[in-house]
This record gives sequence, structure tokens and C-alpha cells, in this order.
Amino acid sequence: MDRLESGLDICVCADDDVCLNRTVYAIKTETEGRCLPELCVHLFHEYGLISHYRLDAATLWKLFSLIEEGYHSSNPYHNAVHAADVTQAMHCFLQQEQILPFMEPQELLACLLAAIAHDLDHPGVNQTFLIATSNYLAKLYNNTSVLENHHWRSATSCLIESGVMESLRDIWSSLQDQISALILATDITRQQEYLSHFKLQDFQHNVLVERDAKLFMYAIKQAMALDVSNVIDY
Ligand SMILES: [Zn+2]
Repeated sequence: MDRLESGLDICVCADDDVCLNRTVYAIKTETEGRCLPELCVHLFHEYGLISHYRLDAATLWKLFSLIEEGYHSSNPYHNAVHAADVTQAMHCFLQQEQILPFMEPQELLACLLAAIAHDLDHPGVNQTFLIATSNYLAKLYNNTSVLENHHWRSATSCLIESGVMESLRDIWSSLQDQISALILATDITRQQEYLSHFKLQDFQHNVLVERDAKLFMYAIKQAMALDVSNVIDY
């Protein structure tokens, strides 16, 4: 629980935005290696999600610890530091003035959870390898977005196992839809499909004049599809 206090303290004590102004490596050092759960607690607090959904702090910490454990530390790229890095990038994206004022709490929740869990339990090999070796995951998901399907279902398992789902019962179904859509958007083989739907000019017009939820989600998916990170953790 000390690390939970530390995560909350960061946001209380910071005189700047710790997420925007520090690299994930700096946060990793400050948190003694627990950058993912501490960053997540911090962001959930900053976005008001803990109070809005009346989330129990210890249960929330359990969720982020489960997700952290679900990342393979032996994986040089798709590990918990990469997840923290992408979550930080998502936070930067959400902070844009054309975006943040138009976000509903559930959308913020979905975006952060999707970023946090977007590579959860990544085995360190790609879909082509999984299909070629007849891996059980490839069979389970019919050779389609194999890893991404596994990531979002693993995220669902963590939400249930941690007990956080109990606080989200009223939005559980739609929240699952949003998280799955966002994580599935990280399938690199489908990025062109999302790009073809997304036009920045349309996005800006619709957000500023009238909120277009569908187009808006394309923008968020775009942020996910970029999977903007090149952290390699040795
Ligand atoms: Zn990733």
C-alpha cells in the first residue's frame, strides 16, 4: 500500500504535470520500478475517475498490480514499462484542448484502461508466428487480431478478478465494447483501415461545432493505433 500512497502523493505534490514533463524512465526510477500502477493511480485521480465511480483505492491498486504482473518482464518491448509509456502518450493526447472538454468520464475511463492493458500478456511473438505454429491463441481467435483479442480479454479478466468491475456494473457492457474497440485498433494490419476513416479536418470541425461521438472515437482509436512508444527495457 506504500506504493499506492506514493502514486497519490505524486499528483498532490506535483507543481507540474508529472505525466507530461517526465519520461517514463524517470517515473520508473521515482517509483522504484512500479511505474505502471503508480502512473495509473495518479491518472485515475487526476481525471476524477476514482471519485466519479466511487472506486475503492485498494481494489484499484489490485487491478493495476494484476495488469502489471500480466506483462512479461522478460519481454524486451511489450512489457509494463511500454504499457506505462503508451498510457502516458494517451494522457498527452487526451490533454489536447480540442479533446478533453468533450470527454465523458466513461470515455476517459475506456481510453486509459485500453492504453494500460493494450499489450497485456503479450507472448513476445507476433501473430504470424502464432498462426504458423498453430498456437492455441490463433485457434481461439480464428487467426484474426489474435494478440489484440487476447489483450482485451485479459484486461476484462483483470477487471473482474480485481473486483473493480463491481463498481462499474452500470456501464460494464458498453465499457467492454469501448475497451475492445480501442485495443483491437492497435492491430497493425488494420491501421490503414482506421486511417482511411480519419480526417483531421473533419475531426476538428465536428468537435468544435458539434460533438460527433463516432468520429471522435476514430480519433481516439488513431491514438491507440499509433501505439506511440519505442521503449525497450533491458
Ligand atoms: Zn504496444
